[in-house]
Amino acid sequence: MNIDEMFEGVLSGNRRHLAKAITLIESKREEDFKDSLKLLDKLVPYSGNSIRIGITGTPGVGKSTFIESFGLYLISKGYKVAVLAVDPSSQKTGGSILGDKTRMEELSRSDKAFIRPSPSGDTLGGVARKTREAMIACEAAGYDAILVETVGVGQSEVAVADMVDIFTLLLLPNSGDELQGIKRGVMELSDVILVNKAEDDNLEKAKLAKSQIENALMMFSHREDGWNIPVILTSGLKGFGFEDYFNALMNYFDLMKKTGLLVTRRDSQYISWMWSMVDDYIKSKIHNNKDMKNLISECQKNIISKKSSPFSVAEILIDNLKNIFN
Ligand code: GDP
Repeated sequence: MNIDEMFEGVLSGNRRHLAKAITLIESKREEDFKDSLKLLDKLVPYSGNSIRIGITGTPGVGKSTFIESFGLYLISKGYKVAVLAVDPSSQKTGGSILGDKTRMEELSRSDKAFIRPSPSGDTLGGVARKTREAMIACEAAGYDAILVETVGVGQSEVAVADMVDIFTLLLLPNSGDELQGIKRGVMELSDVILVNKAEDDNLEKAKLAKSQIENALMMFSHREDGWNIPVILTSGLKGFGFEDYFNALMNYFDLMKKTGLLVTRRDSQYISWMWSMVDDYIKSKIHNNKDMKNLISECQKNIISKKSSPFSVAEILIDNLKNIFN
């Protein structure tokens, strides 16, 4: 399939073409790189017409269950839903915390849904970049709600918050007791907090957690955009709290549109995507160059044996860059 066919297929919303386009985007083969850039350049003007939602939380908090049933809820409201994943564990261990997204069986059966598990990249930056590009392709294919899932560990929340409009943190009903342990940074990235699994026997605990979280937010959250982070009780299993969550998403999205924040946030994200692309490209050029590889290992040895400082070694490496980029 050539690029033009793929492009036409994606634009017409053909899911097979979209899947092929994303496979091309994710390809690590050097000969695919130019083609994927060509395709992305054609797709970008047709992207951007979606609400981009990031969802994070520790493994077991119920993200997959929630995304599957909330995805179906969005479809019942007339949305076309794409689910993408950023999984920092997949490159380190080969395994994946987010696991096999075919778990979202019911959602994947809908012709209004497109589900794509995490690509395995060499770096978190690499995975995140592919996910951003897959997001562009999904938008060009007409998906107007993009859910980007990540695990609440490490840097992946930051990467996802940097590619979405609205970031959602899922917590458990007993999380009130553990608020100290929840990284303040993650709370600060969040625009909406859900206390999930808040059904039946958990409801009272979840209500208590909600008020504890609200108190904690009052202590440290002073947002420049004037948004008060809502804390909402939900159950992915029972489909409870979806209306409230949906309304919160719409309210924040409207506020961002009215204040111009949506445009400025996306513009600054595009600029930072450009830089992460430049960073990735330079680093991969360095690491794929045989002479540089040898020089790097020598430099590293010198740092460890205290023969050289990291600063002087960095300068040696920078001096040698001209041998790669000429
Ligand atoms: P993830 O690791 O965050 O994606 O979590 P999963 O969606 O895989 O759910 C982890 C476990 O919690 C599974 O056994 C689910 O059946 C269960 N679970 C998910 N959502 C709910 C919920 O809303 N209420 C309750 N009680 N259990 C849930």
